[in-house]
Amino acid sequence: MIPYGRQQITDEDIEAVVAALQSDFITQGPLVGRFEEVVSKGCGARDAVACNSATSALHLACLALGLGPGDRLWTTPNTFVASANCARYCGAEVDFVDIDSETWNISVGSLEEKLVAAERTGKLPKILVAVHFAGQPTEQETIRSLADRYGFRIIEDASHAAGARRNGEPVGSCRWSDITVFSFHPVKILTTGEGGMALTNSGELAARMRLLRSHGITRDSAQFVALPSSGASADEAGKSPPAYYYEMQELGFNYRITDIQCALGISQFKRLGQNIEIRNSIALRYDSALRDTGLQLPFVADGNRSAFHLYVVLVSNPASRDAFYDRLRHVGIAVNVHYLPVHLQPYYRKQGFSEGQFPNAESYSLRSVTLPIYATLAERDQEFVIESVKAAL
Ligand SMILES: *Cc1c(COP(=O)(O)O)cnc(C)c1O
Repeated sequence: MIPYGRQQITDEDIEAVVAALQSDFITQGPLVGRFEEVVSKGCGARDAVACNSATSALHLACLALGLGPGDRLWTTPNTFVASANCARYCGAEVDFVDIDSETWNISVGSLEEKLVAAERTGKLPKILVAVHFAGQPTEQETIRSLADRYGFRIIEDASHAAGARRNGEPVGSCRWSDITVFSFHPVKILTTGEGGMALTNSGELAARMRLLRSHGITRDSAQFVALPSSGASADEAGKSPPAYYYEMQELGFNYRITDIQCALGISQFKRLGQNIEIRNSIALRYDSALRDTGLQLPFVADGNRSAFHLYVVLVSNPASRDAFYDRLRHVGIAVNVHYLPVHLQPYYRKQGFSEGQFPNAESYSLRSVTLPIYATLAERDQEFVIESVKAAL
């Protein structure tokens, strides 16, 4: 089978992982901080907090921004469920904003309309999760100005978009957001097996995410809050507490990533630029080969450099989609659908969502098929995909 996405693992990656395995620390060692530094520098953000998945990073981001019961988080229905679930982990409500029919990203027009209505009813969101679908950045400057006007915080779910740029600005710089999250799952742009990262320009948000990543425990004496009587023998004369002392200050989690994974991540990150080049040239080949097939092809907005995590095509008639999908699977091409609208998942239907609420996302979903795109996709395999797509139509 030709998959729709897959990892690229080089000899250099393998050597890096082996070296990590032979080192003193296979978790909580020096490579976690080094990976954070490499990615935050590379993206131009002040801080990065690496963790065991993007799902965890989204949860940490919501917690750090103070999301809780009674609050609302908005996102798009055209995403993986994790973009919404992070709100539910915090006891907050989820609502959705429909997508734009060309970029398949959140529609800033629909967002503005919904904000106007929500202001009237007193139901403004606390957080918006902007998803850079398929690797294409959302209209972040507009979303930023809406956030300033309506007082919500922004998390960029950039699980698809490591290496993407908007007007030259790398995704991850958090220029227009509070926190940006990457995923390092093997189908994404870079991988650590499982893994994720939250980037931010706020030292305070980074510190909160770090604390909550590891049980809410701190060993930093500057942060200690407990009185000596609560168990520590920290003394009144200003002597530091004993080395074994630590404080659990909040209910945190174990969302840590290992040094083994970070060794892979550091090595993978070196090829980010090259990886994005390859993905864009694969996308260009699809664009020109499929131009006259009647399929709707990806539209990359002016000023955007997509990471092309996914290459999605839309058939014109939803009734023909499954047959098209089946024909391609049948010849060994593991096409997929990204995404089933999140609001129509049984869990979210139980929260009151139903068909017809987000028509663009629903129509998109019924017509979409994801074709293979990844850094190691051979040219002859892509030729086979193109011929098979034409034959299947
Ligand atoms: C993959 C993905 C996630 C979750 O990533 P994990 O690292 O698997 O937790 C979240 N959001 C989007 C948009 C994704 O594609």
